[in-house]
Amino acid sequence: MKKILVTGGCGYIGSHTIVDLIESGFDVFSIDNFSNSSAVSLDQIEAITGKKIKNYEIDLRNQADLFDVIEGEGQVDGIIHFAALKAVGDSVFQPNLYYDNNLNGLLNILEAQKKYNIPYHIFSSSCSVYGNADELPVTESTPTKEAESPYARTKQICEDIIKDFTVAHQDFQFVTLRYFNPAGAHESGLMGESPINKAANLVPVITETAYGKRESMTIFGDDYDTRDGSCLRDYIHVMDLAHAHTLCLEFLLNKKSEKSIELFNVGTGSGVTVLEAIEAFEASTGKKLKYSIGPRREGDVIAVYANKNKAEELLGWHPTRDISTIMKTAWEWELKRNK
Ligand code: UDP
Repeated sequence: MKKILVTGGCGYIGSHTIVDLIESGFDVFSIDNFSNSSAVSLDQIEAITGKKIKNYEIDLRNQADLFDVIEGEGQVDGIIHFAALKAVGDSVFQPNLYYDNNLNGLLNILEAQKKYNIPYHIFSSSCSVYGNADELPVTESTPTKEAESPYARTKQICEDIIKDFTVAHQDFQFVTLRYFNPAGAHESGLMGESPINKAANLVPVITETAYGKRESMTIFGDDYDTRDGSCLRDYIHVMDLAHAHTLCLEFLLNKKSEKSIELFNVGTGSGVTVLEAIEAFEASTGKKLKYSIGPRREGDVIAVYANKNKAEELLGWHPTRDISTIMKTAWEWELKRNK
């Protein structure tokens, strides 16, 4: 059984990915400092898979703690590095925190790979690295533009750090996944997004508004150059995204990767505007949402959606859930988690 270190394993994408990894036969342990998650995720993973996962509550910026954990675990075959701060809007107001956390966390993980000879690393990047791309959909070779937020810039810099690392150290292989907009929840209703900090992403904001936790929600701008004036994104179901990581691990472990870094877009290939997302929620749940139009949010790109051909061809990855399933599962989770 291959042993995988998942950083950020109690967070939204991390916890859903652990479920998929366990179901695919991997031995997993997690490092998570609970900065935007809690140990409840471990119970949810156990409820779905029957397996209790160990989490070490340490901060990746503390290299000595990280080394202690890995030494205690013994042989580690690969790392999936999710742990990072991720709120675009927040990053505009706290840039130093984002740089410190996202860059130093990665640097220490790379040091650990060298010290303990951990050959494989799947890195969580973001479609925000494309900025306002000249052509849509974006492919992996679409040039990245100026980052629109400090968050996006941390992901661009992390990708560069990994590039430089592989030039200097050739025994390691990476897959960088550029996530589009993860949303939705596990179909069992036992797990979903449970942020500790106030939700800022569109889908949890929608479900919280529908539930009545918020009076109303704001659409950040309706005067963009898109088909209805609101921003356009590619919403990918979290379990489809989770499964991409399992396929990447198999791709690396089965020595199918010919490069030191392989890059993949992980999106559905369909763009959905904010207004369309709200319509999809209303249509699939029968709930009406209260919303108003507000000013643009600083740091937002206008429109981005994926060309997913490369992941389909090289990984055999095919997302199977659409925006309506995303909204349905997110809503079921909202109802469940408030019980
Ligand atoms: N959005 C919005 N109202 C909200 C939250 C998000 O209009 O309360 C918009 C946001 O401006 C962006 C889209 O929804 O156009 C997706 O934002 P999110 O924060 O979910 O993801 P991002 O693409 O920024 O990573």
